[in-house]
Amino acid sequence: MGNGAIAAGLAASLASEDETALVKHFAAMPEEERARLTKAMDSLGYSAGRRILIIFGPPGGGKGTYGEKIINKLGVPGLSTGDMLREAVAAGTELGLKAKSVMESGGFVDDAIIVSLITERIKQPDCAKGFMLDGFPRTVEQAGKLDEALGALGESVNMVLALEVPDDVLTVRICGRWVHKESGRSYHIKNKRPKSLPEGEKATEENMKDDETGEPLMRRADDTEETLGKRLKAYYEKTTPILDYWAKAGIVKKVEADDTKGKTMDDIWKSIEALL
Ligand code: ADP
Repeated sequence: MGNGAIAAGLAASLASEDETALVKHFAAMPEEERARLTKAMDSLGYSAGRRILIIFGPPGGGKGTYGEKIINKLGVPGLSTGDMLREAVAAGTELGLKAKSVMESGGFVDDAIIVSLITERIKQPDCAKGFMLDGFPRTVEQAGKLDEALGALGESVNMVLALEVPDDVLTVRICGRWVHKESGRSYHIKNKRPKSLPEGEKATEENMKDDETGEPLMRRADDTEETLGKRLKAYYEKTTPILDYWAKAGIVKKVEADDTKGKTMDDIWKSIEALL
């Protein structure tokens, strides 16, 4: 592509107000031209890069809870592969049908499916300022594919925020967890009871309701002690090696996120906020 074509393409995508086309156009520019444009913008004080953050941690580690606060603070969308897959299962799409049984048993959905789900999603206009990934990447292969896809756009991951929580705490959290499907708000039969659950009563489908909407809460099909064992094993064997993979880039930040030994959730949030 010559300079004239680059300029014309940029002008056309700017004029069309189609941010996806603009991003695509930027990605299609020769690397040298893209680097010059980025450098020029940086030198003028414009940050050309998107804010690309990964919230990382074991199942039940608090990715949903702290992730929500992070996206509100940064004003970028949170992209959860778990939520995207659960939506596909609920909608009965082809992807959902493929993913359902793997997810219920605590296994991993195929890398190729997940990677294309995410690489398509981050081209959407709401990701123009950046995005936070939750539940992806989950294998070193996925991390490599993400690096490749971002590299092609002249971008890279800015930060991997790793929440650390001991297994016994995770088991208690997961096995007592009820969620509000629509909003993703999560409750706990002991630690975060919904208003609808009377003191001293056992949790049932009738008395577990979302505080804000009054809608019924549900249990996730994979939130059982049996499946959790498998999910944790997969987390330590396949997912945590990602931290070594990115350690060299100096972007991994670890946060102690156990709120049962003196630290409150607010203390944990403050240490996360300080890193943003
Ligand atoms: P968790 O509480 O285990 O972090 P998530 O909601 O992130 O749960 O994901 C639920 C399930 O969806 C996983 O156990 C897995 O089957 C599937 N899944 C989600 N993200 C990925 C991914 N990046 N790669 C493969 N499978 C995934």
